[in-house]
Amino acid sequence: MELDTLRDEAQDLLGEMVRLRRALHSWPEVGNDLPITREHVLAALEGLPLDLTLHETTSGIAAVLDGGKPGPTVLLRGDMDALPMPEATGLEFASRVEGQMHACGHDTHTSMLVGAAKLLSARRSEIPGRVLFMFQPGEEGFAGARFMLDEGLLDMGPRPDGSASPVTGAFALHITSSMPSGWVGTRQGAIMASADRLAITVTGRGGHASEPHRALDPIPVACEIVQALQTMITRSIDVFDPAVVTVARITAGTTNNVIPEFAEIEGTVRAVSERTRAKVHDGIRRVAEGVAAAHGTDVTVDVIPGYPVTVNSDTFATFASGVASEIIGADRVLRLPNPVMGAEDFSYVLNEVPGTMMFLGGTPDGKDLATAAPNHSNRVLFDESAMVDGTAIYAAMALRHLGGVPG
Ligand SMILES: [Zn+2]
Ligand SMILES: [Zn+2]
Repeated sequence: MELDTLRDEAQDLLGEMVRLRRALHSWPEVGNDLPITREHVLAALEGLPLDLTLHETTSGIAAVLDGGKPGPTVLLRGDMDALPMPEATGLEFASRVEGQMHACGHDTHTSMLVGAAKLLSARRSEIPGRVLFMFQPGEEGFAGARFMLDEGLLDMGPRPDGSASPVTGAFALHITSSMPSGWVGTRQGAIMASADRLAITVTGRGGHASEPHRALDPIPVACEIVQALQTMITRSIDVFDPAVVTVARITAGTTNNVIPEFAEIEGTVRAVSERTRAKVHDGIRRVAEGVAAAHGTDVTVDVIPGYPVTVNSDTFATFASGVASEIIGADRVLRLPNPVMGAEDFSYVLNEVPGTMMFLGGTPDGKDLATAAPNHSNRVLFDESAMVDGTAIYAAMALRHLGGVPG
């Protein structure tokens, strides 16, 4: 069993992968309940020798391919959800659902994972172990991966012959319009940030705007907190283990001559290590409570935890780059110098199983990657032919990890 035919085989599947991707693109669904998407995926998997588990808390699908020989399980993840935003691409297969769009390319991920299931099913008898295809909803803020894990995604029983087959590796691709089509990139360690929500309410005492001494104005206190948060970041966080705090909303007051009782601050907190993440959470609390106390106002500080840091296993990241090099050539495999400050709920999977997330370039033909509309843009476009490379890499990762191919 060799890897060198995988890309050609994926090329042969491109027509059907494009059809599936466009069908999903036309009917995007948001969140953890994706009934139409699930039907499309099930129809596309029909006839393959897969053991399907339809998750109940979400529209997740766990599809297991049992190879012909004993061995561990490798997990391949594809997310399936869209974003709550209108589409402005003008594509003939653009969204037909008002206010919903596949702007993060998850339609291509789903389609590639189906393609990989076909490539691997065709090699079933030679595979030593199992492949767990994780079709996941709710990546865009709904923690779909967390729900699938909680529902027992990784609780793989023994194989039919009684041999144990635990999940020993996990792999996910994410397409991006900001990398050349058909290139990939990953890195050791953190690849994406944690993302937490910050909500602070400063409570003073309302009054007449002409007599601030008889009121307790929360607005300057809120402003001081915003400034002090940035000072806290630059003065107490190691620049080589960075964090971002962005206050993205301040709301206070209703008119020019009234001092309001409340001022609200909302924002996001990002970090690329759990250590710094915890330190920033503590710092936010200390600064907000300290500034508020200095002025005699009350304050409530909520840091609502979102996705953890997505951390690649060092050895798995090196391994994944090597496998990708075999498929697309080493000159198209990038070692990313820095993590991306976006967040991913594949982080929950990587907290349980060593593995790697990898970016797949999908800048459309004729576009400059520096100026192409980025992921989450209402005008983002992806080069569908990148799905050939992605599908072959998914399949190759499973085969190499399970040891079914001589290295
Ligand atoms: Zn996204
Ligand atoms: Zn995404």
